[in-house]
Amino acid sequence: MKQHFIDNRWVAPASGESIPVIDPSDGQPFEAIARGNPADIDRAVGAARRAYEGAWGKLSAAERSRLMMKLAYKLQDHQEELAQLEGRDCGKPMKQARADAAAIVRYFEFYAGAADKLHGETIPYQAGYTVLTLREPHGVTGHIVPWNYPMQIFGRCVGGALAAGNTCVVKPAEDACLSILRVAELAAEVGFPEGALNIVTGYGHEAGDLLVKHPDVDHVSFTGSPNVGKLVVRGAAEHHTPVTLELGGKSPQVVFEDADMEAMLPVVVNAIVQNAGQTCSAGSRLLVQRGAYEQVLDRLSGLFSQLRVGSSQMDLDCGPLIRKTQQERVAGFLADARRDGIPLVAQGEVAPGAPASGFYQAPALLRDVPARHRLAQEEVFGPVLAAMPFEDEAEAIALANGTDYGLVASVWTRDGARQMRLARAIRSGQVFINNYGAGGGVELPFGGVKASGHGREKGFEALYGFTVLKTIAIRHG
Ligand code: NAD
Repeated sequence: MKQHFIDNRWVAPASGESIPVIDPSDGQPFEAIARGNPADIDRAVGAARRAYEGAWGKLSAAERSRLMMKLAYKLQDHQEELAQLEGRDCGKPMKQARADAAAIVRYFEFYAGAADKLHGETIPYQAGYTVLTLREPHGVTGHIVPWNYPMQIFGRCVGGALAAGNTCVVKPAEDACLSILRVAELAAEVGFPEGALNIVTGYGHEAGDLLVKHPDVDHVSFTGSPNVGKLVVRGAAEHHTPVTLELGGKSPQVVFEDADMEAMLPVVVNAIVQNAGQTCSAGSRLLVQRGAYEQVLDRLSGLFSQLRVGSSQMDLDCGPLIRKTQQERVAGFLADARRDGIPLVAQGEVAPGAPASGFYQAPALLRDVPARHRLAQEEVFGPVLAAMPFEDEAEAIALANGTDYGLVASVWTRDGARQMRLARAIRSGQVFINNYGAGGGVELPFGGVKASGHGREKGFEALYGFTVLKTIAIRHG
């Protein structure tokens, strides 16, 4: 069993209980993790508090930066090992797992470089005063991480929190957390002080809930589903703990008749197929201007029918979904579409050789999806693209904004003025013009509006969320 990692040591769970880890590629257990309980969370928060008031808290920003850069280099040395862990744990095609391992290196590199560049301001005020602001760390930060991109999401929240001077207790997802445990071990190897970075594994409603409600946690960053996000906000309210919420999405890809079709088509496919659609920012709705609708669907039909799904090691277009219940959930959306007469345009294939016991779902393209249908409104979290036509800009904007979510959007058009109008009119945290996702973009602030959450991670902006601003007014005459 993999134990918790607290105070730079492996620590057995107080309950003695474990949770099996299943390989989504074949549905078989291959490891076990500790099942965290209140005693484990207390122990980790205590360790983080001691580190905050002790060794980690006493480091200068430049010293923190140096340690984080050492970790970035260490992660780089272990990139393939981490990718293999992530690939098996999440069922990711290896090329995606390798991209994720490269991304965590980049997160630590970026935030190591940012740590000693975060500063306050001086404010002109009345004669006889000097007023300045300090950006201070919250203290002990709690981080709840999902299973779809464990390493990347760990890098983005923990990287920012550590750079700003906080200590961390992380509760990764019960479905996939092996890479995160290894990263914490590597942090200890490069010299992170005891207690600066602690990992407690376990179930969300147990260990996660306890972390959120713990009276000695000063800030919580939560990445996960909107419903659990509500529970987290309620739980954190108990001690007035500030929360950053990175939730789901139903992100539109908006294609106008004048779009560069050759550039757009593969990007549209990748935006929904990457990580088998289990991406918060998946481009799961395709809005196409009427005059190009048939042509776009025709071309996409060819691309979708060529998509192949297989195990992590087969390294095809898609891996399996994370677990059986997720596979059933996605199949449920497709069954509803069939029942409601929504046409299936094309579907990929599970490749021969993919273990029958794995959680596979062939990618599907559906057309004429009514804007209020659950397929156009709810997050499927699977490789399912819902296409619908629009007539003009006004309708495109109404459809793009017509869900509870607002995480990302893309707009494909050659018309510069229209690009700007759409970018401003769409309510979401990021808008991509003639691209999707900009290659991940560690440097680019990320987060949602509406049910997609609030607060920003990634980029320098995240550092503001991981600090508290203090105003100091000095009257000196
Ligand atoms: P989830 O909300 O079920 O779980 C996320 C994490 O929360 C896990 O670590 C889980 O153990 C924990 N958790 C569950 N119940 C909890 C509780 N009561 N208290 C505290 N923690 C609890 O979500 P999921 O199914 O693991 O992940 C998929 C969701 O995450 C999707 O909605 C997806 O869009 C979203 N997501 C968002 C982003 C983003 O950056 N916006 C990134 C990845 C995933």
